[in-house]
Amino acid sequence: MKFYSTQMKSPTVGLGQAVMNGLAPDGGLYMPFRIPRLPNGFFKKANSMSFQDIAFEVSKNFFIPDLPKSILVNIVQEAFNFSIPLVELDKQLYVLELFHGPTCAFKDFAARFMARILGFFAEKLQQEITIIVATSGDTGSAVAHGFLNVKGIKVVILYPSGKVSSLQEKQLTSMGENITALEVRGTFDDCQKLAKQAFVDGELKEKMTLASANSINIARLLPQSFYYVYLSAQLSMKGVPIAVSVPSGNFGNLTAGIIAKRMGAPIAKFIASTNSNDVVPRYLKTGTFQPKPSVSTISNAMDVGNPSNFSRMLELYENDVRKMRDDIHGVSFSDVATREALLSVFKKYQYTMDTHGAVAYLGLVDFMKKFKGYAGVFLETAHPSKFFEEVEKVIGVPVSIPDRLKEYLDREKQAILLSNDFSEFKSFLLKL
Ligand SMILES: *Cc1c(COP(=O)(O)O)cnc(C)c1O
Repeated sequence: MKFYSTQMKSPTVGLGQAVMNGLAPDGGLYMPFRIPRLPNGFFKKANSMSFQDIAFEVSKNFFIPDLPKSILVNIVQEAFNFSIPLVELDKQLYVLELFHGPTCAFKDFAARFMARILGFFAEKLQQEITIIVATSGDTGSAVAHGFLNVKGIKVVILYPSGKVSSLQEKQLTSMGENITALEVRGTFDDCQKLAKQAFVDGELKEKMTLASANSINIARLLPQSFYYVYLSAQLSMKGVPIAVSVPSGNFGNLTAGIIAKRMGAPIAKFIASTNSNDVVPRYLKTGTFQPKPSVSTISNAMDVGNPSNFSRMLELYENDVRKMRDDIHGVSFSDVATREALLSVFKKYQYTMDTHGAVAYLGLVDFMKKFKGYAGVFLETAHPSKFFEEVEKVIGVPVSIPDRLKEYLDREKQAILLSNDFSEFKSFLLKL
């Protein structure tokens, strides 16, 4: 499969180059040349297939022969070694739990898959690759966890000192092995600036192979389409149209859903559910896309004012807002509404959502009130204990922390303290 840039000013590339580049040289995002249809009859047998088998069937069309078949089989088996329950809350109302991976966030799907793909290319090119990730919290731990012990890869995490939660810091700094955490005296923006400077530094470019693990990488986007195929395979037997509500920030998750639909997944409607960072619901309403500075909310992983995957959405709908409206219902919610939803779902179903899943739940309910006859699914993207301060305050009961998170609390922090000065970071990289 070849990949092109949404800016159309860079050469098309193969999978390896697209994954290594992350962003295309012209600043565009890579898109697959063609979205392959799943074979006729696929959905008849798919409801008895495991998630890993579905992931293989979907990904082979994009990744073979750039990746040999046996390698792809292994990658899928290793990356997705956790459960993905589809829980029925009420008649025609479901939640797909995407937080059963090692860091309890749905970003595990993308990070674990991409890590192994990059590992394959590192080995093939006989090159040691250094991944640089600047993080304000959760992305760093999913990426670091994904790359833990992947041969040929070193990971350097930059995080702002004193600005991540204590649990997050433990997750970032206690990994060891091929992961190094740098505690930067500065802000998240300083961390991002250091990472960007490293990618354009001539001497570093000459002496080492640097790659980025940021969210626009095509190898992080595509694995998110697998669970849309999986959930629609589970529900397609019901014979009613399916609506899926996606709690959205950078819109990678929703874009992957649209790609799944184009492959043939029988999903009738998506709901783009946002917090008050509502530029996409606004676009769907008015036809004008107007990025704005992000505002802080209790679903902070979705506090994005200029979603980076929007250019991919435009590409998929040929810049036509009417076409996008046919598939996507957009709606945004305040923190007040989000808290009310957390409490009412806890009372009604004894089910504890996290703040991001709660936004998706609200979007689904809004849609199902207006349009009848759908089976509705909302995506739960984080375990509620990751945001326990807020959740406990609202529902009034302690949220239990899964053992795999608790385990970190007893581990030892190992981080190198750095200033936000580039020369210090650079000499660290050269000695790595
Ligand atoms: C990243 C994240 C989101 C938003 O996903 P996008 O693909 O950026 O739209 C939603 N929920 C949680 C918990 C996240 O970490």
